[in-house]
Amino acid sequence: MGLEEKLPSGFLLTTVEKLAGYMRKNSLWPATFGLACCAIEMMAIGSASKYDISRFGMEVFRASPRQADLMIVAGRLSNKMAPVVRQIYDQMAAPKWVLSMGACASSGGMFNNYAIVQGVDHIIPVDIYLPGCPPRPEMLMDAILKLHEQIGNEKLGVNRAKIVKEVEASAIAATPIHQIPVFGKQG
Ligand code: SF4
Repeated sequence: MGLEEKLPSGFLLTTVEKLAGYMRKNSLWPATFGLACCAIEMMAIGSASKYDISRFGMEVFRASPRQADLMIVAGRLSNKMAPVVRQIYDQMAAPKWVLSMGACASSGGMFNNYAIVQGVDHIIPVDIYLPGCPPRPEMLMDAILKLHEQIGNEKLGVNRAKIVKEVEASAIAATPIHQIPVFGKQG
């Protein structure tokens, strides 16, 4: 029933990149962290047998950021809380990933006001955005699976440096947001 039965000759050929991706995506531990109503949906996947992220070995939400490598930003982020979120992110073990859960975390949502950060990507880098208000636990599971896929295919070393260069070049070449015409407005 084990891996050895699938490898009768005792050989397994792969690349370091693929092996690292496989191990990283299968050993994610989220930080214990919740900001608003979206966090209730997040709790459902950890503590309810119907959803149960322990099937991915992820049910242990770590109380210490130093033992966590996934931050699920679940809920709106106030300006007052922003430095705290950044500090927790800085204290997390690298490599680390961020999942922005819900409309508020991703864009401020309905809270278009001075108190709420209009998207957590102003504070920390986000790897995957999950829409909805609130997103259902099934949607969070789906986002986690997509993040697993992303982590499993992450490049390392020179391959990574090449991708970073390409992304930077396309960001520099892109039209600045303030120059993009707004639908329905003239001039
Ligand atoms: S997206 Fe909706 S459910 Fe989530 S924090 Fe905002 S208001 Fe609450």
